[in-house]
Amino acid sequence: MVDLTARTKLLHNLQCVQDAIAEAIATAGRPSECVRLVAVTKSIDVDIVRALYEAGCTELGEGRPQQLWSKHELLRDLPIHWHLIGHLQRNKVKRTVPLVRYLHSVDSLELLQDIHHYATLDRSPVDVLLEVNISGDETKHGIAPASVEVILNQATQLDRVRIDGLMAMASLYGGRDQARRDFAKLRELRDDLVRVSGIPLPELSMGMSQDFDLAILEGSTMVRVGSRLFEGLS
Ligand SMILES: *Cc1c(COP(=O)(O)O)cnc(C)c1O
Repeated sequence: MVDLTARTKLLHNLQCVQDAIAEAIATAGRPSECVRLVAVTKSIDVDIVRALYEAGCTELGEGRPQQLWSKHELLRDLPIHWHLIGHLQRNKVKRTVPLVRYLHSVDSLELLQDIHHYATLDRSPVDVLLEVNISGDETKHGIAPASVEVILNQATQLDRVRIDGLMAMASLYGGRDQARRDFAKLRELRDDLVRVSGIPLPELSMGMSQDFDLAILEGSTMVRVGSRLFEGLS
C-alpha cells in the first residue's frame, strides 16, 4: 500500500514535472501535447508505480528487460504502455517484444533483425528508436552518429520493425551547456537522415530528470524521467 503522505508527494512531483514540461514547450513555441512523458520506474516498488498510473501516467519505462518482464506481470491488469529504455540483449528479444510499446535502445542491425524475426504477424510493426552515442562517451551504448544512415538503409527490408526516430543520452560531463549541445546534435542528425533517406523519423527520445527542459527546447518528443518523480519517497 502507498500511504497518504507518499501519494501526496508523488502527485506533487508529477505535477511539477508536467508543469516544467509545459513551460519548456511554451518557451520553445512548440504545440502543446508534442512531448510524451515516459516515467522511468526502475527500482521503484510496484505499489508506487500503480499509484503513478492512477495519477494518469500511462507510459512507463524500464531499463532492464527482466525488470520490465516482472513489472509487466505484476501490473498486467493495467493497460500500461511499456517502454524499454535500456540495453536489450539478443537472447531477451523474444520475450520482450510482445510486452512493449516502444524499444528505445536499439543499437545494431543484428538486433533489428531479431526483433523483426520475433514480431508476430498479427500485430502492427514493432516501434523502435535507434540509440545513438551522440556524446561519444566510450562507456555508452549506441550507434556512432556516422553509422546510423547505413543501419537505417539496411533495415528498410525489415517490414515488421518501424524505426520511428532516435534516442540518446547527454554527456556525463560538461553540465547543462554540453547536454543542450548534445540534444541539438541529435536533432540535426535526425534532420539530415530524414533528408537523405526519406524516412520520417518523427520521434526524438531525449531528456532525463536533470535536463528534460533543454531537450524539449531542442525538439524532444519523449522525455524519460525517473528520479524527479520519486524524490522524497521511501
Ligand atoms: C534511468 C534512466 C533515465 C531516467 O533518469 P533520471 O535521471 O532518474 O530521470 C532515463 N533514461 C535512461 C536510459 C535511464 O537509464
